[in-house]
Amino acid sequence: MSHVMNTYARQPVAFVRGQGVWLWDEAGRKYLDGLAGIAVNTLGHNHPRLTRALSEQIGRLIHVSNLFRIPEQEAAADRIAEITGLDEVFFCNSGLEANEAAIKIARKYGHDRGIQEPAIVVMEKAFHGRSLATLSATGSRKVQAGFEPLVQGFVRVPLNDLDAVRQVAAHNKNVVAVFVEPIQGEGGINVSRIEYLRGLKALCEAHEWLFMSDEVQCGLGRTGRWFVYQHAGFLPDVVPLAKGLAGGVPVGACVTGGRARGVLKPGNHGSTFGGNPLAMTGVATTIDTVRDEGLLASAARVGAAIRDGLAAALKGAAGVVEIRGMGLMIGIELDRPCGELVKAALDAGLVINVTAERVVRLLPALVISETEARELVERLAPRVKQFLAQSTPAQPPLAAAR
Ligand code: PLP
Repeated sequence: MSHVMNTYARQPVAFVRGQGVWLWDEAGRKYLDGLAGIAVNTLGHNHPRLTRALSEQIGRLIHVSNLFRIPEQEAAADRIAEITGLDEVFFCNSGLEANEAAIKIARKYGHDRGIQEPAIVVMEKAFHGRSLATLSATGSRKVQAGFEPLVQGFVRVPLNDLDAVRQVAAHNKNVVAVFVEPIQGEGGINVSRIEYLRGLKALCEAHEWLFMSDEVQCGLGRTGRWFVYQHAGFLPDVVPLAKGLAGGVPVGACVTGGRARGVLKPGNHGSTFGGNPLAMTGVATTIDTVRDEGLLASAARVGAAIRDGLAAALKGAAGVVEIRGMGLMIGIELDRPCGELVKAALDAGLVINVTAERVVRLLPALVISETEARELVERLAPRVKQFLAQSTPAQPPLAAAR
């Protein structure tokens, strides 16, 4: 019996080594990594620049605590301010912590304006984490069930439905913020329309709400720009980050600007590990490498090539509902639950994921080349077709639940 708590459904594979977008298991078998640790390994595995920088940092200093100035933290915050266009960064260690900070900022912003019971507009099917506040903000009963009572103060609306938010605005004077995951990752690669994001921003301006963009999964260059809101051409007030920010070293960051700037004051929030020199070296090196290697343009180009390749290879295959996404954040929605495709892909030497029951999710590292992207399509498409040929659609179609 393993002493590891049984909280994950794990595949019976253990990876022991990686290089770029390739992984090797205990038996020496090689796999193409189409998942990058769920959007974490931005630079792939064992990127020489990141490995060297982290190794040198470990030799100098790993941790000191936030009781002291941390020059590496200041350098990382400067870079994040530059790429986000925002002003202040609170460092923590994970996505849920970054979102927890965002929720606290929204509540504090409300209290500072005399609103005693501040409410935050959140979206159906969004995923914000598994702490009590962030699972309450999450739009999935599966994540919440068994952990009630939920944290109060969230008003839920469907994604891409501006009228629903207008209705909330008309009836709820306690709203202080809109919290949106602009491309829902866990929810099935559901992409916000750019016009919708602009409409949400306009509502935030009109009502003096905070615009909070959870870019934990979709941010950091994956979509071809550093952040999804940059496709819409405006600045949010709060941007929680994590996952790919330090190329694999645990880190989270809650970035603020606009109306959220200065809301948290000394003593309002903290984290023992947050912003330690090791993670901060990961942040600075990852950002510098993405920039120096031109990985934003590459993510857009190679991502489009993967989507086009999949569209061509799966053309006419009954059961493919939609191929969607942006850059290197790609979903293939099928008309039936397809969890077993993960195992079939592993058998074909490919690491993928299935989310929202019937969406194949691809989140490869930003360093993936066009040749490797072709290889990914060549390994995946036949498995999808084979799966569809050998299984039957869900009855009635799950589309009703979308
Ligand atoms: N927000 C989004 C959009 C996520 O995708 C995730 C994790 O999948 C989280 C928050 C939570 O991040 P973490 O698992 O680091 O707490």
